[in-house]
Amino acid sequence: MNPEDITVAGVRTALASGSSTAEAITRACLDRIAAHDDTIHAFLAVFADRAIERAGAVDARIAGGESPESIGAMAGVPVAIKDNICLDHGRTTAASVMLEAYESPFSATAAARLEDAGAIILGKTNLDEFGMGSSCEYSAFGATRNPWDISRTPGGSSGGSAAAVAAGFVPVAIGSDTGGSVRQPAAMCGCVGLKPSYGTVSRHGLIAYASSLDQIGPMTRTVEDAAAVLEVIAGADADDATCLDRPAPKLTHDLHEPVEGLKIAVPRQAQADAVDPMVRLIFGMSCKVFAELGAELMEVELDHAELAIPAYYTIACAEASTNLARYDGIRFGRRAEIGPNDPLEELYIRSRSEGFGPEVRRRIMLGTHALRAGFADKLYERAMRARRVIKADYDAIFRVMQADAVLTPTAPGPAFELGSRAGAPTDLYLEDTFTVGANLAGLPAISLSAGFVPSEGGSLPVGIQLTGHTHSEAKLLRIAAMFERASSVGGRVAV
Ligand code: GLN
Repeated sequence: MNPEDITVAGVRTALASGSSTAEAITRACLDRIAAHDDTIHAFLAVFADRAIERAGAVDARIAGGESPESIGAMAGVPVAIKDNICLDHGRTTAASVMLEAYESPFSATAAARLEDAGAIILGKTNLDEFGMGSSCEYSAFGATRNPWDISRTPGGSSGGSAAAVAAGFVPVAIGSDTGGSVRQPAAMCGCVGLKPSYGTVSRHGLIAYASSLDQIGPMTRTVEDAAAVLEVIAGADADDATCLDRPAPKLTHDLHEPVEGLKIAVPRQAQADAVDPMVRLIFGMSCKVFAELGAELMEVELDHAELAIPAYYTIACAEASTNLARYDGIRFGRRAEIGPNDPLEELYIRSRSEGFGPEVRRRIMLGTHALRAGFADKLYERAMRARRVIKADYDAIFRVMQADAVLTPTAPGPAFELGSRAGAPTDLYLEDTFTVGANLAGLPAISLSAGFVPSEGGSLPVGIQLTGHTHSEAKLLRIAAMFERASSVGGRVAV
């Protein structure tokens, strides 16, 4: 089985028929990583021996008469995990010097559920430090390159996960999405990326960035695989009080049933001047695909769209400033050296200054300011009011206009050159124009590969995003599957 052809269903068929083994599939992926990851740098750590051993255990069970289904929905499927998701093996660094030596004693619920379902975790992938960024360039351990054009970023913050899927290293990766970090890198690397409704997937073991926005989601080559992975990782978890007390949704059984009377809302902002002309072209073609599928396209206005970025960055930074307060060099995080006569305060200051990179420090300062007495009503509370009206705009589209999904580009442009946004951190924040709304409103949203634009180093994928009403993952995935079948753009690998 060629690594670039592997899918979740493909692995199940191959193992059931005996045409391949979990070990052979794992080794093929590991070989590909060994051949290309020096260039791409998708992984911060690869656990080759552990992966081969676990794959061997799956094969032994199959040899003993068990079927792949009875072992689990992910039996023998190679998976990569973003390195802000804890695993009880190796290190979990969040791509930060602060956590460079951290070994988690437990696995995140999402990672544990994948392994319980038979998945083979091959390693941990690169990210922007603590998930803060849109290009993977804020990793303390070096940027990841886009497999479609290695002079470009893979997007971020889950850039390592997206690049690993796009390079054919793994069919499935897991990312986290606070303001677009699953969807934007998926778009830039030509994969599928799904952010579930808030509370669908447990955040237990996810290193917190902004707790009211963070969700873990799948990154795959196909919509079917995204549905299969979400079925495994979703569902109630006693270890996360914000995870909804209900079973994982059923997503795969009727995935290929088209949605009748489909209504797609298209916000005016989707075609704004700030969107790259080539992205607008591909977006227009995607609208046509939906029209040809019989969908009714409705032009809508997201009245408060311009508030989304300021509200998001105020709330995300405020929550980050409190979440990251625990890294003081004593309870958590790397401890700096101080002199015998230095005051204790010096230990905190040095540990935090040496452990956090510049973007993380910037956000802690912004967030601390937003929460300061005398400013909180002007900044944090205003942002929370904006969050409510943004949610109300989406509610009106789904409840009053009865739209099934809102369609936009995922990002305003294709992958940009590595280093080209250095020195302009707030320009980078605009990458999230189309993605933060779903996080602020708690909605599910999926990015799909919709076309390619030429670049000097090859061609670059462009993504579209479908946002659905809360807990409409099943319908959203069916709409995504309709598009995937009709457009036949997705599913390709770059290397
Ligand atoms: N780019 C956004 C940020 O930097 C989103 C990050 C994310 O979703 N983790 O905050």
